[in-house]
This record gives sequence, structure tokens and C-alpha cells, in this order.
Amino acid sequence: MKVMKFGGTSVGSVNSIFTIKQIVGSEKEPVVVVVSAVSGVTDLLIKTSKLASAGDMAYLKEYQEIRSKHDILLNGLFSDETLAAVQCGVDQMLDELGNIFKGLYLIQDCSSKTYDTVVSYGERISSYFISKFLEVTLFDARDFIKTEEQHGKHIVNFKQTGLRVHEAFASAPDVTVIGGFISSSVATGETTNLGRGGSDYTAAILAAELEASILEIWTDVDGFMTADPKVINNAYVIEKLTYVEAMELCNFGAKVIFPPTIFPAFHKNIPIRIKNTFNPYSSGTYISSDKPANGESKSIKGISSISDTSLITIQGLGMVGVIGVNYRIFKALAKAGISVFMVSQASSENTTSIGVRSADAKAAVKVLLEEFKLEIEMGEINKIFAENDLATVAIVGENMKRTPGIAGKLFGTLGRNGINVIACAQGASETNISFVTNVNSLRKALNVIHDSFFLSDYQVLNLFLTGIGTVGGSLLDQIKQQQPLLMAQNGLKLNVVGIADINKAIFDRDGLELEGYQERLYKEGIHTSPALLKEEILKMNIFNSVFVDCTASAEIASLYKYLLEHNVSVVAANKIAASSSYNKYMELKNLARKKGIKFLFETNVGAGLPIINTINNLINSGDRILKMEAVLSGTLNFIFNTISADIPLSRSIKMAQEARYSEPDPRIDLSGKDVIRKLVILAREAGYQVEQEDVIKNLFVPDKFFKGSLDDFWADISEMDSDFEARRSVLESQLKRWRFVAKMENGVCSVGLQEVTASHPFYDLEGSNNIILITTERYLQYPMMIKGYGAGASVTAAGVFADIISIANIR
Ligand code: ADP
Ligand code: ASP
Ligand code: MG
Repeated sequence: MKVMKFGGTSVGSVNSIFTIKQIVGSEKEPVVVVVSAVSGVTDLLIKTSKLASAGDMAYLKEYQEIRSKHDILLNGLFSDETLAAVQCGVDQMLDELGNIFKGLYLIQDCSSKTYDTVVSYGERISSYFISKFLEVTLFDARDFIKTEEQHGKHIVNFKQTGLRVHEAFASAPDVTVIGGFISSSVATGETTNLGRGGSDYTAAILAAELEASILEIWTDVDGFMTADPKVINNAYVIEKLTYVEAMELCNFGAKVIFPPTIFPAFHKNIPIRIKNTFNPYSSGTYISSDKPANGESKSIKGISSISDTSLITIQGLGMVGVIGVNYRIFKALAKAGISVFMVSQASSENTTSIGVRSADAKAAVKVLLEEFKLEIEMGEINKIFAENDLATVAIVGENMKRTPGIAGKLFGTLGRNGINVIACAQGASETNISFVTNVNSLRKALNVIHDSFFLSDYQVLNLFLTGIGTVGGSLLDQIKQQQPLLMAQNGLKLNVVGIADINKAIFDRDGLELEGYQERLYKEGIHTSPALLKEEILKMNIFNSVFVDCTASAEIASLYKYLLEHNVSVVAANKIAASSSYNKYMELKNLARKKGIKFLFETNVGAGLPIINTINNLINSGDRILKMEAVLSGTLNFIFNTISADIPLSRSIKMAQEARYSEPDPRIDLSGKDVIRKLVILAREAGYQVEQEDVIKNLFVPDKFFKGSLDDFWADISEMDSDFEARRSVLESQLKRWRFVAKMENGVCSVGLQEVTASHPFYDLEGSNNIILITTERYLQYPMMIKGYGAGASVTAAGVFADIISIANIR
């Protein structure tokens, strides 16, 4: 025999009830069908009784809602001939209910006994009309599910229940329908219930007593998922769970099944299958005692959480080594009927923290203050207090037992994402690690854990991109193009969650559609500023997030510190931060290291050329950088390769700007400022403490051209043309070329114009290319040489892209 339980949504629509008929009808074995109340009805019953007993006439509207929910179903399910009779049976119960509500309204009170009666109507009505629709016998669970009272709660009396179930089902027909959730008191026979979500439990009790072949829980999801699908959109169905795993998960808020459901099935070794009424052919989740084979499954099976957590802490040096403190804590709480779901005590014993539901927190503190009144007066215990607005998260899996490093990975992941762990606990059974955090970090915590334990088929990086000029725009194009490939080949999902230019910003935590983003940014974007951008990013509090700066703005660069402090990695094409004061540069680098995140700026020097990474690799492997000589300005190299008898200096500068090699203001390049910034960054990465002011300058454009406005500059610069051409033709006749060279030797830095002969490696440097020669202890006689495009939007964007991808590898 099978026991099949259909939940609220499964009995909530005409179509789904037709599906139930098909499912039950196609069963070969005898079936006990347990049904919940129609979805939303239990909530409405509670709401209506609250309103009525508070003397609020609005209860009538809610009562009508209950009526009409049922009317719609009856009209859809029954033909004209049968409708009247069924409607009459349902109306009779609804009328009784209406009278009870009226009574509540008049006396303005609702005892727990009346409350239990009111909520029983949900299942009484649903089971009645479903039995009529299936044309099978209806049983009333109150006849055999018997409860007794403990700490004000109704607990199943298994002995009485067992006897009566056997009696009731001794000669039951092949198919029966029973309303779940409801029960009655052994002592008084009054209507009671098994608690919210209790229909699952009714079904489990029946399955155990009747030794069913299987207990099927039919609901509105495909099975037990790796996390609540309403929070984690890439959660997926877990094929198999052990009873222990299922228990751990549902006990911690995975609402798929009511936690007490597992035990009766476990006790009699009856497998449970979770099935979806709305997708009946999917195989669902199978719960049994089968242990996962070694290496067969993931180290953790699922994540669950409860948000209404309070942590009660009992603190005092006088507790250390004293026997019986914990005994008294739990005794006092148990006496008050307060359930404790997590305990955390450091081995120093001077604090014990316990997790309780928020609704119990006040009472728990009161009870404990009374229990330890004497100790508090004596100063042995100095504090008992509650922290509220917390959430508890548990990771679950029997395979954790065999896998070292799970806790390390869990807390490492949380730390890198700036999620503070307030308390944690792991039982010696090692099937569950739980921790408490702030409720506003819950979503983020669930996401990072899901992501980092590879529960997801892919990893996610959430990007905020600012600056959509040539580099930023090109980067977005590359991301758009690569997204499918990265997902398919590397299991990496690049989610662009924010795009901002100087005026406008758009955000979407689920990822922005990159097709046509410019138009949407312009039309739908909110007005932004660096401060607002920072606020939005923090407000979103999204996991694995990376801030990508493709601007040249000092204001944006000034946000890095704050972002890194909040565990957002930074990838900068912008050179301002890394070339600002040495202290500031070190502060950002150290901050990133401390937080376990990244601050990357490979494209600050040589665009997409792997220069900074190479220097880092050399140093990490024990080499020492002695000397660097480089052409680092694409713009200047372009200018010196372009000027000729026909193209004067001023024209070549204009051409560099038009080809978008130069900074928006080309004076930054001509004044050597851009090269100085790059050289300073290189020297620092090579291990030398250098400031921009330390760099010796040998410039070719006199200072006076940099004094006025940009317009003045364009107006005046042609003054240099004739003199420069004279010098150039001499140089040409000597078969030499000009290169603007940056040099660092043992920490001493200089930039300046240098004449190079044909035998010099810099002589043939074409177009806007860059070159660097790195002399190290190991590359001493023949320096290492890196050469290639040193400017341009697409190579720079590719370098930024590479930095972003490298962040995906930090786990
Ligand atoms: P029913 O009315 O059928 O008893 P419930 O609403 O009680 O259904 O339980 C099913 C719901 O549980 C799902 O719709 C889903 O939102 C929620 N849920 C929470 N955690 C999980 C999880 N880990 N896996 C599947 N569902 C979950
Ligand atoms: N109808 C009850 C509730 O909503 C029991 C159940 O659905 O399992 O809590
Ligand atoms: Mg349920």
C-alpha cells in the first residue's frame, strides 16, 4: 500500500485536482490519500479568527474569501447533477464556521480550543469534496490520530494512534481520502492539530502504522532542492537523501516537508519520495536509509536556513568549570516550553550561546534571568542577553564526515564575502554545520555557499562596471560574446549586475541583458554619482562581486578602499589609485590581501600585455628585478613613428588623439605624466618604494604648453613644429630614432627622450606598441622582453577581462 499526501497547492486548483485523480487512478496498489487544506485557506482561517475576535467587522470579507475559494473549485470539479449535493455538504461546514466567527466577534475572544476548531475546517472541507470528486471513502483523521498535551503543545500519542489506525483500516477499501493536519485529544476528544504544515506528518504516521511500501509527498516543487528555490534561482533537485540528511535540512527551514514527518518513516524504514503534482513525470527526491557511496556524491547535499533567529548569550567568568550550568539553562528553557535549535559554547566555558526562534527570545531571557538570579547578584554571571534580527544557516550532508576541510571552506568563503559569523556549531556526527549571521546577510550567505560548494553547476561573478567609453564599451562587447562559452566550458557565469557612466546607472541583481544596454542606460538609468554608486553596490550586498573601473576618474578611484573594505574585489584600468601615494597603494593592496579578495590593475601598464603579472611571478618565484627599460606610452611611440617631413609634431599629436591612443587630454601623455604613473606602478610591483615626484624627468615639450587650457594647448602647440622638424631631420640623417623611455635601475626611476640606433631593440617598435626589457638576477645577461600592442580599446578591454577571469579562481 502507498500513502500519498497532496499539499495545499496540489489541491488548490481545478486542474491540479484533476491531476490528482489521474495520479491516484493509475495506481495499482491500494492508496491512502492525505490532503491539506486548499492553498491559502489555513492562513485565511487564522486571519479571520484574529479579526473576528478583535471585534473587527473586516473578518466578514475574509470569511467570504474562504467561501469563494471553495465555490470556484466546486463549480469547476462537479457536473450539474452532483454539484448540489456536494455544495450542500460544504455549505453546511462553511455555515458552522460562519457561526463560530460570529461568536468570536461577539465575545471578542478566541481560546486555543476554539482556534484549533477553526483551523480544522480547512482539511475537513478539502478532504470532504475531494473524496466526493474521487468517488472514494472519506475517513476523519480525528478518529485515529490522537494527541496529548505537553508544554501547551499537542504531541502524538503513538500508542493510542496505532491502535486506532489499525482498527480503522482493518477493512478499508482500496482508496481512501483523509484530511491531514487534524487530530483529537486522547483525554477529551476535542479537535487538535499537528502544527502548521502537519499534513505531511499525518501521512507519515499512517505510512508507518500501515507499513506502506512508500510515502509520497506531492507538492509544488520537483523535490528537495539544494536550497530554497525562492532564494537561489539555480538551486536544483537532490536525487537522493538519507533520512538523516532530510531531517537536518527540513529541521532548518527547508519547508518541503514538515520536520517530524521523517521520524515515523525512518523508524519503519519506509522510503519517502517527494513529487511534483505540476510535473508528475519528474522523478523527484528519494529519501531512504541508503548511505551515499564513498566518492559518489558531493560533500554537502543541501543548505537550509531559518531567518527568525535570536541568539541568547549567557556570559560570566564564574561559569568556568562549574558543573551543571548548561543543565540548568536547558531545564529552565524546557520548562518554559522554549525550543533550542542550536548551542555554541567555547571550550573556555565563559559564554554559552543558544539559538531560539525570535518569538521565544524575550521569554527565554526572562526565564534565564530568574534561573540565574543568585549567580547574577554574586557576579558569577555578568550578562544574559538576546541578539535579534539574526538568521541561522545549516549545510548538510552525510559525506561531510569523510571530507576534511569543509568547515575551512565554508568560513573562508563567508569571510571573503564579508559575511560575519556570530556563532557556529557542528555536531560530532558531522552531518551538519550551522552558523548564525545577520538576517540582512542571509541571501548573500546562501548564494556564496551554494556557489562555492559547487552545488551550482556553475560559479557566478557579479560585475559592476563603471565607465563605458572605448575600453568599458569594448569590455561589455567581449563579455557579451564570451558569456555562453565561459558558461559552457568553464562553468563560469559572468553576471553584469550594474553598469554606470558618469551620469546614469542601471542595476539588476539577476544580471543585466547586455544587448542594447546603452539605450536602456540612457532611458531607464537612475542619475548617479560616485557616492550613489557606492551606496547602491553596498545596498545590493551581492556575493562574489567585482567592481570594474574603466574610467580615468580620481573620484571613482577614491571608492576602492571602501569597496575593498566591504569585500568587493576591484579591477582597475584606471591608473590613479595604483600610482597615487605609495602608502595609499600599499593600503589598498594590503586591504585586499587581508580580506582574501583581489585588487588587480594589469592594464595600468602596457594595456593587455602581461607585464605586471610577469613581474609578480618572477618575484614570487624568488627572483629580484634589477632593472627595467621600457617604452610604455603607445601615444608617444605613435607620435615618434608618425612625424615626418610631411607630418609635423602638432598634427601627429592630433592623429594620436583621433585614433584614441592618447588619454582624453593628450597633455597627460606629452608631459610624461602617463609614463611616470606607469613606471611608478612597475617599480612598486618590482618591490621598490617609489613616488611620482621621485622620477627624474627629461621632457621634450616645454612646461609652458601645459599651463593653460586644453584649447590654448591646441592653439599653441604648432609653435613647436619647425624646431622639432629641424631636430628630426638631423636625427634621420644619423639613422636614429626617438623613443620616450622609462627606466628603473635599483629603484632609481627616470623618463625621457632617448635617441636609439638601429641595433637597439626599441628602434623597430612599430605604431603604438610598447616594449619592456626586464633585467633580473636570473635574466641577467639577456633581459626578458615583452612587446606588443600597448594601447587601444580592445586589447585593454581584453586585459581587464583577464583580470576579471583570474578572480574566479580564488576559491
Ligand atoms: P505543500 O503545500 O505542498 O505542503 P509547502 O509550501 O509546504 O508545500 O512546501 C513546498 C515549498 O517549500 C516549495 O514551494 C518551496 O518554496 C519551499 N522550499 C523551501 N526550501 C526548499 C528546498 N530546499 N527544496 C524545495 N523546496 C523548498
Ligand atoms: N493546512 C495546514 C497548514 O497550512 C497543514 C498543511 O498544509 O500541511 O499549515
Ligand atoms: Mg507543507
